[in-house]
Amino acid sequence: MKYRHLRNATALLTYGEHRLLVDPMLADAGALPGFKFGAGRRPNPLVPLPADAPAWLDAATGVLVTHEHPDHLDGAALRWIRARGLPVWCSHVDAASLRRKGLDVREVHGGALGLDVEVIPARHGRGWLAWLMGPVSGYYLAHPDEPSVYLTSDAVLADAVFEAIDRLRPDVVVAPAGAADMGVGRILFSVDELVALVRRAPGRVVLNHLEALDHCPTTRAGLRERLRAEGLLARVDVPEDGEELHLARTDDRPRPRPRVGPGPRPGLQKWLTAHLAAT
Ligand SMILES: [Zn+2]
Repeated sequence: MKYRHLRNATALLTYGEHRLLVDPMLADAGALPGFKFGAGRRPNPLVPLPADAPAWLDAATGVLVTHEHPDHLDGAALRWIRARGLPVWCSHVDAASLRRKGLDVREVHGGALGLDVEVIPARHGRGWLAWLMGPVSGYYLAHPDEPSVYLTSDAVLADAVFEAIDRLRPDVVVAPAGAADMGVGRILFSVDELVALVRRAPGRVVLNHLEALDHCPTTRAGLRERLRAEGLLARVDVPEDGEELHLARTDDRPRPRPRVGPGPRPGLQKWLTAHLAAT
């Protein structure tokens, strides 16, 4: 498995025969509005993609989308995907909305991508804020020759995250670490929650969603310092934009079987977020 971190949550994941572009936000720096209300609001993204990003993007064989927020699928990415006709993998909850945008949509469910897969719904905030932010799909992927990986996507710490880690024992967890707050409440893991997440994870943890958006205050340096103080940094990667991580399967123990099932269905919440999403 190779994880080429490009920016925010955008990465090229080389996994088995796939090269999946995960959660593409391809806008130029400053081309999107600020996400923070009040002081500190600045146009997003705060930084450009790495200079060699086009070559990595061209290597993609498909796209994997966790939810329809503009920092995970923006207008530039939609145009880029449509121009190449790449298949777009997403959960059932986003499928109809993405099809309406002219994408070649494939749903992630048992056996999709020729992998053991599971959709693990995430809570992108707490209470009314979670409802407002809309549905998010984390994914568990397992290929026999690769480390198993759990992409939590945008989430706060909830029982479902620990339940998935305890049940599936993923070799790698990829989680967003920016502690995003638009000014009305936190919508990603806090640093304390990330410490708990790393403690619970059985293997490596890759932390992304950092230093690219105006509403994400956590810095890579501050995060590394805290993880070092907790004695956890040796199991954690906090990649720079453009950095590639090489992660190999280190055992051949039998793996837990992921749950197969229809998963969540789109509801009123999805209707709302679909209408606010990039076109
Ligand atoms: Zn995000």
